[in-house]
Amino acid sequence: MVKQLADSLAHVKEVVQRHWGYDTLRPLQQQAMESVLRGVDSLLVLPTGGGKSLCYQAPAIVKGNTTVVVSPLISLMKDQVDGLKACGIAAVQLDSSQSASERFALEKRIRDGEIRLLFVSPERLAMSEFYGLLQQIRVDAFAIDEAHCISQWGHDFRTEYRQLKKIKELFPHASVHAYTATATEDVRADIIRQLGLHNPEVMVGDFDRPNLTYRILSRREPLNQVLDVVRRHNNEAGIIYCISRKNVDELTKSLRKNKVNAVAYHAGLTPDERRTAQDYFASEKCDLIVATVAFGMGIDRSNVRYVMHTGMPKSLEHYQQETGRAGRDGLEAECVLLYSSADLMLWKSIMEKSASGELAADTNDGSFLEAANKHLETMSRYCRGAVCRHRALVEYFGQSFAKENCAACDVCLSETVEVEGSDIIAQKILSCVARIKNGRFGAGHLVSILRGETTETVRKWQHDELSTFGILSSHAKGDLRDWIDQLVGLGVLDLLHLTMQSGFSFSAVVLNDESWKVMRSQRSVKLVQPMRSTKELKAKRLKIAGDSWQGVDKDLFEKLRAIRIRIAKEKGWQAFMVFSDATLREMASVKPSTLLKMSKIKGVGNAKLENFGEEFLQVINDHSN
Ligand code: ADP
Repeated sequence: MVKQLADSLAHVKEVVQRHWGYDTLRPLQQQAMESVLRGVDSLLVLPTGGGKSLCYQAPAIVKGNTTVVVSPLISLMKDQVDGLKACGIAAVQLDSSQSASERFALEKRIRDGEIRLLFVSPERLAMSEFYGLLQQIRVDAFAIDEAHCISQWGHDFRTEYRQLKKIKELFPHASVHAYTATATEDVRADIIRQLGLHNPEVMVGDFDRPNLTYRILSRREPLNQVLDVVRRHNNEAGIIYCISRKNVDELTKSLRKNKVNAVAYHAGLTPDERRTAQDYFASEKCDLIVATVAFGMGIDRSNVRYVMHTGMPKSLEHYQQETGRAGRDGLEAECVLLYSSADLMLWKSIMEKSASGELAADTNDGSFLEAANKHLETMSRYCRGAVCRHRALVEYFGQSFAKENCAACDVCLSETVEVEGSDIIAQKILSCVARIKNGRFGAGHLVSILRGETTETVRKWQHDELSTFGILSSHAKGDLRDWIDQLVGLGVLDLLHLTMQSGFSFSAVVLNDESWKVMRSQRSVKLVQPMRSTKELKAKRLKIAGDSWQGVDKDLFEKLRAIRIRIAKEKGWQAFMVFSDATLREMASVKPSTLLKMSKIKGVGNAKLENFGEEFLQVINDHSN
């Protein structure tokens, strides 16, 4: 048995080298592959880009039977199937868009045992004729992609996923392997319970994505802040997430006005429009997609160099998943979030309105809203906090973070500076809260009083007569707003979410015990503001962005990228399926002069070498001579 497993593992490594051109496995890949080979149920949690797919794909080839892969979206299945075909592997998908004759032909190939990987939706698994087909072909392994969709505690719950419970009943001899990028302990336990996994091997990878640089900025001039990021990533792929469809449309329009080629993507577009937008982005005809979060799962381009959020996502799980779409190829990428405390309220009212519609009646026990609110509070605390972004994310997912300084987030890169006289400012803000009726007014009104603005509300409540009126008038509105958020993040001020009889809802500022400690000088606080010198910031950014370009001939890289786009277009694939950016950069650095030398480049498997090797070699040789 031990020898058999050792042989299978050696075989798997050979398969990975032959088909994918990778000479080493990443952390946990070997262990995850072993559980598939041994037929032991498993749950693998690895961040996006960690290499989960290979964990069921390579063993499927070694085992020689058909492995069934459950995937939530047709577009995701297509990407996977195309990617596998590019590597010379027999993979197909069965989906509702296929004609009866197409399906018939595919089913014949499946019955004849030609297919190693069969991709289907969760709904299809529950169909009796599909069950009949699987019975005929000795399926002994199921891979469940995006497994967190089965859990109501996760961030992408899908009722269809609940049907997967049946797999263990219908196929008691098959092993079931669940894969996800985001799962807290609750979600992990829920996945295991819902799928009915038997003594599963649970593997949880390192959540940190060291190649991502996280920045959270207060939202002041959103369009300029977006343009700033887009322009520093000229010619590179990016995704901008907006909270609403309206935001998506408006931002796309403004970007185009500013001569930035961007496509919009949201649920309000027709399926055709969505497909076109996605194809444009995937085929590298357009490098920037502006989207709502609901449709992110189909976006699968591996060389995304930046992900930007123009508003706060609704949970840290979402944030991790969405930012996780940057730098899947392992190369450096930037994640910028524009935050305003108004986002929290906006989300809370969206959640309240949609709570009943969000879930099917049989699963909505009221806990959804409670969970959603908890997620929102955690996310908002993360944005306001001034601790290392990598550390806070990793610790949220229950892991410890060893590095003192990640050198890849706004906090550790010291892109913020301490505000002079933080304690006095904090005391002034808090004592102003003490003078207005506790729990009645929001941060906006507080700012008006502190700056000495005679607004209608200020006059109505005679707050212009307070001793704190105009006490911080020399500071900018945005700074004051940020500092109030920071005081909340530091736990020395609370926000209370209130809905008035009229239906109007807002967050009121409320003092707590810690507030009094600050006011009595028993506790010190550190307030920060963004570094003002853009020169200094740019120098830092360039340093990070430059690292993995070392030794790469950029002109050659662009030439290689151009043939990649052409080939992908001919094949109807996503560009990175021909070769990833990492592979192209290695080619543009090593400049192999023969096919043998090219085969040593990471990501050049046999099928790709045979199909595209000559063409790429020609360009490299022409460029070098
Ligand atoms: P996930 O599903 O975890 O988000 P993928 O399976 O899409 O990640 O893998 C991300 C990228 O890493 C893909 O381009 C994949 O081919 C590549 N990859 C996976 N395993 C390895 C490996 N052992 N060595 C090098 N690259 C790998």
